[in-house]
Amino acid sequence: MSIDRVAIIGLGLLGGSVGLSCHEHAPQIVTTGYDASPAVRARAAGRGLVGKVCDTLAGAVANADLVILCVPVGAMAGVAHDMAPHLPAGVIVTDVGSSKQSVVEDLTAALPGVSVVPAHPVAGTEQSGPDAGFATLFANRWCIITPPEWANPQHVDALSAFWAALGARIEIMDPQHHDLVLAVTSHIPHLIAFTIVGTASDLEDVTRSEVIKYSAGGFRDFTRIAASDPTMWRDVFLHNKSAVLEMLGRFTEDLTAMQRAIRSGDGDALFDLFERTRAIRRSIIEQGQDDAKPDFGRGH
Ligand code: NAP
Repeated sequence: MSIDRVAIIGLGLLGGSVGLSCHEHAPQIVTTGYDASPAVRARAAGRGLVGKVCDTLAGAVANADLVILCVPVGAMAGVAHDMAPHLPAGVIVTDVGSSKQSVVEDLTAALPGVSVVPAHPVAGTEQSGPDAGFATLFANRWCIITPPEWANPQHVDALSAFWAALGARIEIMDPQHHDLVLAVTSHIPHLIAFTIVGTASDLEDVTRSEVIKYSAGGFRDFTRIAASDPTMWRDVFLHNKSAVLEMLGRFTEDLTAMQRAIRSGDGDALFDLFERTRAIRRSIIEQGQDDAKPDFGRGH
């Protein structure tokens, strides 16, 4: 099946980027959009994030072949419930949420008889809102599609072709496995960044101005991640609870081993780990998932 009309619900970083990317890479697709916030709708119309910004959810989805939910994962169930009576026959409903198991459950429960094929484009920045999106966000980034077992294979293929047209690389994955993998690669790193930035700002014997003044020592790289959208990340941790807690248990054990190595002067243990982690950075660059420039290419 071909996808000619796409409705984007939630016009922030992800929704705006999907709309702009459609205009650039698949201009034949007609896009409509809706956001709960009138201010966001006005800004989305001003930036031309979608072909037509609608004032109602029902209006945005009325003629769609594909509906993409680009709202925080905690809002997915409510949006699905509200749009259910207005969906046209044969529509595919997908999303871009950062956790997948709860989204599969929420969407399939709210949309009985509707083709639901959840997905997660692993692409983003620490910015949010209708000014944050850009057309090249998905270029050469992975989009993980997590169909439920009963999904229509033709719809999975159609969604894969849609994301590939926006420049993404496609992977099909079981939702539970997705949540474990992303707990390690995204959710725990964010939790660590939120925590270390919080710890530094709470220290009583180091002033806040010193933390900021000397941040180039490493702290500022954590602050980029820790500046991410609070609503989005609150929802990710509440909706990927078991995978995050499992991986956090592993991380805590490894951190304790590092603590022991430092206390006992075990330099070999520290050196071996740091050598391994440096090789991981090299692999990310070799696979085109980051820039090779030193210090993230900052001007010096
Ligand atoms: P965002 O920039 O904050 O955009 C979300 C938009 O959805 C906001 O404009 C929000 O409006 C709107 N919204 C909230 N509830 C709504 C509802 N019930 N109906 C309609 N609109 C609603 O967030 P984002 O970064 O695009 O994230 C969207 C989704 O993408 C999340 O599920 C997130 O997990 C996923 N994701 C994010 C990234 C990333 O790096 N940011 C990467 C991959 C996937 P208000 O602001 O007025 O609430």
